[in-house]
Amino acid sequence: MTPPDPCAALREALALSPDNLPLRRLLADTLLAQGLAAEAEEEYRRILASLPHDAAVQLGLLRAFVAGGKASAALALVESMARRPDMPPEARVIQARLLFARGEIPGAIALYRLGIEQDPGVADASFEAAMGIGADDDDEVVEGRVRERDEPDGRGVEVERPRVAFADVGGMEGLKEEIRLKIIHPLKHPELYRAYGKAIGGGILLYGPPGCGKTHLARATAGEIDASFVSVGISDVLDMWIGSSERNLHEIFAAARASAPCVLFFDEVDALGARRSDMVRNAGRQIINQFLAELDGAGASNDGVLVLAATNGPWHVDPAFRRPGRFDRVLFVPPPDAAAREQILRILCRDKPAAGVDFAAVARKTADFSGADLRAVVDRAVEAKLGEAMKSGVVKPLATADLVAAASRSKPTTREWFATAKNHALYSNDGGQYDDILTYLGIRR
Ligand code: ADP
Repeated sequence: MTPPDPCAALREALALSPDNLPLRRLLADTLLAQGLAAEAEEEYRRILASLPHDAAVQLGLLRAFVAGGKASAALALVESMARRPDMPPEARVIQARLLFARGEIPGAIALYRLGIEQDPGVADASFEAAMGIGADDDDEVVEGRVRERDEPDGRGVEVERPRVAFADVGGMEGLKEEIRLKIIHPLKHPELYRAYGKAIGGGILLYGPPGCGKTHLARATAGEIDASFVSVGISDVLDMWIGSSERNLHEIFAAARASAPCVLFFDEVDALGARRSDMVRNAGRQIINQFLAELDGAGASNDGVLVLAATNGPWHVDPAFRRPGRFDRVLFVPPPDAAAREQILRILCRDKPAAGVDFAAVARKTADFSGADLRAVVDRAVEAKLGEAMKSGVVKPLATADLVAAASRSKPTTREWFATAKNHALYSNDGGQYDDILTYLGIRR
């Protein structure tokens, strides 16, 4: 049974009384709340044809522009609204955001202050933090990334500016090249792709054992092209469940569009499929459908938003995700081979005191170790060194033997994943989708 669609009911009522403006307004607001920006825009425009000076309806249209990623239309509208004394305070805050996105920070701050002075209810802590208003210790540097925004209730969308690029990712040359071809070049040279009639759009789904750099690679993709990065754990979205999840998904996509160019990264995208059975069926389908609609750019432009997703369990991912224009490229991220492990170890030791380490030797001792496992090895070696330095009072650099000793006390974590993956690859390998796993395991060439 399909859930009742409030918009369909409103449209039916409107068909009987097309001049009922409050009813049309309700339809527009409902469409917008459902994330249907283009349709909401159309309805607000129709109302404005009769009520061209209604500030509340103009605000509705403005919100629809923002939700649809139409920054220049939004800016033009908000500037005309600003000429009037009854400009809604929320519109001022939106104007501040638009200016901020264009790098006009002082203007943005001034407008924002004006808006909250008129109505403290429109204050937005995350936006304040992004503008640097208030405490300036809000910026947090974690693993080479700066969090630009952070909602106090933890439900907001966090936009990062990664400081890592492809050079910080060991190995994965083939994957980097695929990402360049499939999403970086189209972003940078859309005219070339158009000239050859090549479709732009569609995302990449990365899969493989945990800790092998899927997230790291996605973050580095953003850093490589100086784009912003929005990372979303699907289970967080689902946990906000019952009614509000669809809304949150829309906010995430809208935030990515607003901070384009942006890499939008979905972690554990399998959770959408796997958790479906736990949820009210209709509701589960509904959130998948909204995800797909957002992905297709329905009603809004996804220009400048590169979508990447990662999963450890690709077999749980709903097949609808793999259709053309969605995650139509599915790439295996294997554990690093010896050469990649050597590079990763070099990267991990880059800012540590290390002398003449034979990284190739350590790489040989760490077969099947994931990037995360290698990181744990380096951490262990450093801790041991620190213990020695405490005792002796002498700081000695990390040496090959320290790393080898730490490796021998550690176990690779990727083997367990392959035990499961092998079964899926052998027994549910439709269209050879998991051939890469079989090749990696040496079962098939
Ligand atoms: P996944 O998303 O596949 O579970 P992550 O990207 O979170 O794995 O990897 C965990 C950590 O391991 C990263 O934060 C990074 O420090 C390190 N790492 C993994 N792969 C690489 C790599 N190829 N190069 C450099 N560091 C890596």
